[in-house]
Amino acid sequence: WSICCPTFIGLMMNNYKLPISKINQLFKNKELNPSELYAETFERAAITESIIHGHLELFQEENLKKALNSDKRYEKGKNLGTLDGIPIAIKDNINISGYATTCSSKMLSNYISPYDATVITRLKNEGALFTGKTNLDEFAMGSSTENSAFGPTKNPWDSSRVPGGSSGGSAAVVSAGSAIASLGSDTGGSIRQPASFCGVVGFKPTYGTVSRFGLVAFASSLDQIGPITNHVEDARLIFNSMKGHDPRDATSLIESKAKQPKLKNAKIGIIKELMEDGISEDAKKEVHKVAKLLEAEGHEIIEVSLPLTKMSISIYYLIAPAECSANLSRFDGVRYGNRVPGSTSSEMMELTRANGFGPEVKKRILLGTYALSAGYYDAYYGQALKARAMMKKEFTDIYEDVDYLISPTTPSDPFKFGEKSDNQLEMYMSDLCTIPANLVGMPAISIPTGLSSQGLPLSVQIMSPSNTDNTLLDFSESLESLVAFTEEPVINGVVS
Ligand code: GLN
Repeated sequence: WSICCPTFIGLMMNNYKLPISKINQLFKNKELNPSELYAETFERAAITESIIHGHLELFQEENLKKALNSDKRYEKGKNLGTLDGIPIAIKDNINISGYATTCSSKMLSNYISPYDATVITRLKNEGALFTGKTNLDEFAMGSSTENSAFGPTKNPWDSSRVPGGSSGGSAAVVSAGSAIASLGSDTGGSIRQPASFCGVVGFKPTYGTVSRFGLVAFASSLDQIGPITNHVEDARLIFNSMKGHDPRDATSLIESKAKQPKLKNAKIGIIKELMEDGISEDAKKEVHKVAKLLEAEGHEIIEVSLPLTKMSISIYYLIAPAECSANLSRFDGVRYGNRVPGSTSSEMMELTRANGFGPEVKKRILLGTYALSAGYYDAYYGQALKARAMMKKEFTDIYEDVDYLISPTTPSDPFKFGEKSDNQLEMYMSDLCTIPANLVGMPAISIPTGLSSQGLPLSVQIMSPSNTDNTLLDFSESLESLVAFTEEPVINGVVS
């Protein structure tokens, strides 16, 4: 069989968990075709989706032709890029021309995007195939996908637990094997926290390196698109295919030179404030375990104090709702959103918004509108901006001394459905470790490193100064091989 039917061998190996560079090599060597891999990921979806519900929409039929075109390119030795023929899932707040972008909201259930987000154009230019759109907390507000109007996504490791959020669908489908990689968006941790809960890699790039054009805005000064993958090298590949200046995003960065952290004999700071109360023993142990491995490699580990990280949830929950209240004003039944008729235009808008938004979104709009209102602006939003600036300075100063910072990605392993939905503060606390990177703008990555005492995935988060993304990814890749985490979830009796 191995001689006469190499594809069969390819299928036996679960190609969907291989690094993209290896898949590309199989394509080039004619040991596997993009259309076969595409079929394999959809076979996998048929097993997993009824349990996981990671995709809101699957594009199987439409893309088969594209997969066959990719086959032809490889046959001629003319593939477009390394991503040619790679099935990638897209969070449903990123626009793909001709497809629905619902943001998991009733408000947008009938919206079909007339254009591609810049990241989609760039991935299409590389030949990537899209498996479909993935589930999220409504308008990316949440940490569990319980806020999706279309039902939650389940964690592939244990379906009684949440996959994290808001990019819960994107993380779950990569973990479950129904996509090779996915795109998520991260405003306060929405790539890294679900990646951690699902035992996969999640990377939030430096703010402004990846265009936000075509991403439905939540909090514009914090939002960033990034990859969720099985391997760090895949995250690097997808990041580098998407990044780069885009004149259609006013906050898009022009490539700038920054002093890069060291790859050998680096100095790494464990953030003291993210190893205290509220962080589980398992999560702390994981950071110490990884720190020991790094020390054995010749890196220096020190403890650092960044006192303002303790304020990050308070700062975030003023800035993010303030920006969201402005961004979501466009969903009024005139510019965007499913219109509910009323006898006057203001009644129509009131009914449209009352009917279209779920409770978490409404709460954030109210909070943000209040924080921005005349008389309170300076006391709330203004103060939050000042605290954010001070926090940025705290991090800039610490990077004078250390190359990287390390912390748990999440305070605990994945929680059960309903466990935190009644306790808002506890739910918000699940982003304690991830929010600082958004407020500061620096890159941050979550790398799976082990299992908790309950057998659920645990990760560590590594951060580095802004504009050092590729160095952070190089460093993370060496950490990934040091840790050698190879566990996979078992879904419906089948290992991913
Ligand atoms: N969980 C955080 C929130 O609810 C972060 C969400 C995100 O990063 N999109 O706002």
